[in-house]
Amino acid sequence: MQCIGILGGTFNPVHIGHIRPAVEVFEALRPVRIDLLPCASPPHKTEGNLLPFDLRVRLLEAAARPFPFLRVNTMENERSGPSYTYDTLCEYRRLYPHSGLFFILGAGDLLTLPDWHRGRQLTDMADIVVLPRSGRDIETFHHATRACWPDAAEIRAPAPLEALYRLPSGHHVRFLPQPRLDISATLIRERWLRGRNLSYLVPEAVLNTMQQHRDEITACWQREEPSV
Ligand code: ATP
Repeated sequence: MQCIGILGGTFNPVHIGHIRPAVEVFEALRPVRIDLLPCASPPHKTEGNLLPFDLRVRLLEAAARPFPFLRVNTMENERSGPSYTYDTLCEYRRLYPHSGLFFILGAGDLLTLPDWHRGRQLTDMADIVVLPRSGRDIETFHHATRACWPDAAEIRAPAPLEALYRLPSGHHVRFLPQPRLDISATLIRERWLRGRNLSYLVPEAVLNTMQQHRDEITACWQREEPSV
């Protein structure tokens, strides 16, 4: 069955810690494509310093352009109210009834899944692919998976996966090891406000687009106090 990968996020802004993992997932799991799915109205994050949706999309498009398997999907901007991933996956199921879906997220975010709107039920519609982000991520993965889905059964993980669970729904939760990139959008925003050089932290084409919108970006991010 052909599969579509979905990498959701605020992407405020997109950085190499988003794009490199997408490449790793594509090479390991061979979906027909991976959708970068910017959140229009994040339920869990303050929106004060969030770049306008259209600008985040323009930056994502600049990042995705070199990779034919990456798409930017703006469907969350077509709904009103908070952008719940559960609703988004329902929409994907409706649009692509014959495709497998997997939702990609960093290990730290897996821990917060029970707090998401119908977070545990995302696996009624999609597999989950978890990526490392910091040192003890495999332990976090096992702990969070068992806490989230007590019925999950650990099964043998074929390479290159490091761990794999099967759920009663028939969906899977996977841990895919890859080089860790200790980069966050928070770090990018802080460095931008300090006038630091962002080369190799965001793709060059993204940086060029950011520079074209320099004043708008600075004004928006100045609404957040830099902490380092
Ligand atoms: P912020 O610093 O503003 O909280 P962020 O860098 O975590 O943002 P998001 O847009 O919230 O970026 O992330 C989207 C998805 O990408 C999440 O599942 C997140 O865990 C994952 N992700 C972000 N950065 C990395 C990274 N460096 N390595 C692996 N996964 C990442």
